[in-house]
Amino acid sequence: MGELNRPEVDVDVVVVGAGGAGLAAALAATDGGATAVVLEKEERPGGNTAASTGSVPGGGSRWQAEAGINDSPARLAADLLRQSGPHDAEDLVHVLAEASAPLVEWLVDTHGVDLRLITDYKHVGHSVPRLHAPPSRKGHALIADLLRAAKAADVEVLTHTPVESLLVEDGAVRGVVVSGRRSGTYTLRSHAVVLAANGFGADPEMIARFAPQASGLEYLGAHGSTGEAVRWLLDLGATMGNESAFQGYAAVASPHGSITSWTTVEHGGILVDGRGARIGDESVGYSGFAAEVSRAQGPIHVVFDTRIRDSVAAHEEEFADLVAAGGVKEAADVAALAEAIGVDGDELARTLETARAAADGSAKDPTGRGNWGWGKLRPPYAAVRAIPALFHTQGGVRVDAHARVLGRGGPVPGVYAAGGVAAGVSGRAGGSGYSSGNGLLAALGLGMLAGRHAAGTR
Ligand SMILES: Cc1cc2nc3c(=O)[nH]c(=O)nc-3n(C[C@H](O)[C@H](O)[C@H](O)COP(=O)(O)OP(=O)(O)OC[C@H]3O[C@@H](n4cnc5c(N)ncnc54)[C@H](O)[C@@H]3O)c2cc1C
Repeated sequence: MGELNRPEVDVDVVVVGAGGAGLAAALAATDGGATAVVLEKEERPGGNTAASTGSVPGGGSRWQAEAGINDSPARLAADLLRQSGPHDAEDLVHVLAEASAPLVEWLVDTHGVDLRLITDYKHVGHSVPRLHAPPSRKGHALIADLLRAAKAADVEVLTHTPVESLLVEDGAVRGVVVSGRRSGTYTLRSHAVVLAANGFGADPEMIARFAPQASGLEYLGAHGSTGEAVRWLLDLGATMGNESAFQGYAAVASPHGSITSWTTVEHGGILVDGRGARIGDESVGYSGFAAEVSRAQGPIHVVFDTRIRDSVAAHEEEFADLVAAGGVKEAADVAALAEAIGVDGDELARTLETARAAADGSAKDPTGRGNWGWGKLRPPYAAVRAIPALFHTQGGVRVDAHARVLGRGGPVPGVYAAGGVAAGVSGRAGGSGYSSGNGLLAALGLGMLAGRHAAGTR
């Protein structure tokens, strides 16, 4: 570490940001024989990746084959494009879909990361079960495994080390300038720099400029996503893509701050407003529905039943924690439910009756929802008070198939972007183009591709 604090020290690959993208990039670079260091400005590594549920798609993984699930990169790409609609990074969809199963297998087989195929439910945007996640479904576990692997690969991860700017010579990126209270100020020269600093969800000015639809949502991702890496690259002439896209979440449990698992909705749950009326068609997914919820009159509640509560709690640790912490109210009938969530009993009774009729097929749902999971809700009911949130931005700089940053005349020499710094694959604008796992697919996938290519620049 002392070595690195001297100015003008050489390392093959400098990685900015110790989340999923950065750690994957460093591991891939060292697999390729390069030396790598990861610089993290916060006190702890992890970023948004640690806050996530750690779910990453692998289209055609061997675990899917073992489970008899017929999947392929082409099917994954088709699913993602169906959800996202046309956008600026469609070429990347195919690149990431091809890389996805090898990515999950590489993390598990080469680096001992514990990821398992989730088969108990499908996710937003996916036609077959293909997300792989830590058994706890907690991003902290994914980060802990990646850090263990980084240590084993002799990758230094330096915390309290904010990168202040890029070192640019003759239009090429040659390293970074670090400047922090604990780290001091120094320059680190390298063959390649991988920017894995995530997007700009924590920067209200950039949100207002690039993703105004997210302005009304409270940001609940990690503090470090302040967008500086995107700004440096724009100054270098990089081009933005899909800049108005983001991942929202329609139902963060309040005041607990944890996710109200969307499986509660997929199994038949509904979201009701402060009057006890439905807000819209929940089946657009947790991200797409967030902006709609933010326009509704609160307090908002997710309403389901105790069968759903117990099943989801049995499979998802974070939701079980929410139940244990008293975040899920139980009510024997509609009147008790109305009282528990503070809404008009007659209005809520009408809402539930209409939803029940739609779920059992006896009437058309007024919001257009067609998928009711387990069918109509039955007493006893369960409910969670919820707020809509912004989790991360999906817009960023355009990259090529090796995650090289694209300027006006092609790749900018010496610099790569992975994860939230890069233009994502979730459509051009808003939250409805986001498929589950798109965040980590771009983080871990582009990180792996960047690290591999960067190792070749030695
Ligand atoms: C609650 C929640 C649940 C989610 N669940 C999922 C999920 O299950 N699946 C999925 O695919 N996505 C999920 N996401 C989205 C996913 O977490 C992100 O898309 C992904 O983690 C981004 O990874 P990253 O490596 O790009 O960024 P991060 O993991 O945020 O890492 C970036 C790191 O860079 C550091 N950094 C920033 N600037 C600098 C600088 N100047 N110098 C040094 N360091 C810097 C930051 O502090 C941070 O630690 C979820 C998000 C949230 C908030």
